[in-house]
Amino acid sequence: MWPDGKKCAMVISFDFDAEEVWLSEHPNNVNRPGVLSQGTYGAKVGVGLILDLLKELDLPATLFVPGRVAENHPERVTQIVAAGHELGHHGYTHTSPVKLSAAEEEAELIKGREVLESFGAKVVGYRSPSWEVTPHTFDLLTKYGFEYSSSMMDDITIYRHANHPIVELPVHWILDDAPHFWFDSGATWNKTIRTPEEVEQLWQGEFTGIRELGGMIMLTMHPQIIGRPGRLAMLKRFLTWAKSHDDVWFAQAQEVAKRV
Ligand SMILES: [Zn+2]
Repeated sequence: MWPDGKKCAMVISFDFDAEEVWLSEHPNNVNRPGVLSQGTYGAKVGVGLILDLLKELDLPATLFVPGRVAENHPERVTQIVAAGHELGHHGYTHTSPVKLSAAEEEAELIKGREVLESFGAKVVGYRSPSWEVTPHTFDLLTKYGFEYSSSMMDDITIYRHANHPIVELPVHWILDDAPHFWFDSGATWNKTIRTPEEVEQLWQGEFTGIRELGGMIMLTMHPQIIGRPGRLAMLKRFLTWAKSHDDVWFAQAQEVAKRV
């Protein structure tokens, strides 16, 4: 399955949501600069620190970016492309497709890709906002020539969808930063922020298990979440440890999708 005798694959991915994740949750958030500033941090600070870390460790990454984030933070997207990382589709706005009509979902797909490709990148992958897909999603991805999706949680390795020529690169909450670190003053005062050490332990356990099974490790992070200094220190430790395994193939999502 994997090149050069490697035992498993690992993709380092980021969903660069910036303000859009809050805007899609509550339209009134447009008038709440304090709330939105949580996302602005990703663009202002997080992405830059992440690009520095990836350069230092010489690792490839895939960044899924809503079109409107690219419009609002073009200098960051330009930097991402210049650093050689892959841009993936993550909606135009960050609206969950289940809240959209089929026509609206199609419009988001067209507009989002148009914006990302204006940065000179070829966009072949799609990660749905909030990992929600509809009965139309894979028809639309097929219609517009996408090669892969990274939104489903039904496997630990890549596969081709049964009725569509789309390859799936599965995700899971355990290998995401948000469930462990997300804190939102809106409704989650009862949710505790986990320590970086706890998350490092969870990620190491999952990495080890998937590696033994020869699957694909899809790490999903968000610049506004993992981009806090203490968490980035953990990410550096974790990735350095992951890299110390010679049999792990680190690649962008678009390269991994070609292995099916
Ligand atoms: Zn997102």
